Amino acid sequence: MKSILFIFLSALLFETPTIEKDRDRWKPYYTDVTPTKAADQWHLPFDVANRKKINNIKIISIFGDHRDSYVKGHIHTAIDINPALPKAKLVAVYAMANGVVCSVHLGENQRTVVVKHKLPNGQIMFTSYKHLKEVYVSNGQVVDQNTKLARLFTPQESKKYGGDYHHLHLEIRKKFDDYGCASWLTFNNTQLNDRFYNPQGFIKEHIK
Ligand SMILES: [Zn+2]
Repeated sequence: MKSILFIFLSALLFETPTIEKDRDRWKPYYTDVTPTKAADQWHLPFDVANRKKINNIKIISIFGDHRDSYVKGHIHTAIDINPALPKAKLVAVYAMANGVVCSVHLGENQRTVVVKHKLPNGQIMFTSYKHLKEVYVSNGQVVDQNTKLARLFTPQESKKYGGDYHHLHLEIRKKFDDYGCASWLTFNNTQLNDRFYNPQGFIKEHIK
């Protein structure tokens, strides 16, 4: 009996987490919404001088980088960005195009908003905005590029969590079947390319 308990506890403690095992935990935060308006106009997610010019954002970390934070060894599924010239101390985050909010998940320093979009060709995709200090939207809300979704941490507020959260972790997703956990449980390029676009490529193609 004792040995069975030991095996059970070791499995619980040492088993590596996977998307398939973790996704159900995040499903309650998801609402199955249907975007009606097509996402035909794309903009940078910040209030910058020109929301159509990629050099109005500063890229801190690129897509595909190795990560040891949160779950060790995962792949960076996003670009980490800030406005190149912030207009105010509190940096607001805007939806990049027409869509509907389908998930608000995780707590304080990882808080995330996900917007579901329909492209003009009917294809469904998602944008995901992470490390939000204050969130102003909720599931089911219809948004466009002028909707303020949230605001970022200030460098000062970020210190409380050990420093590095005053930027936007921006994912452009092909799928959201993981309900969010693929953001920290993506360990190889097959998983990466299955669910995520390279945001720099997507922005180049859609924001002009
Ligand atoms: Zn990031």
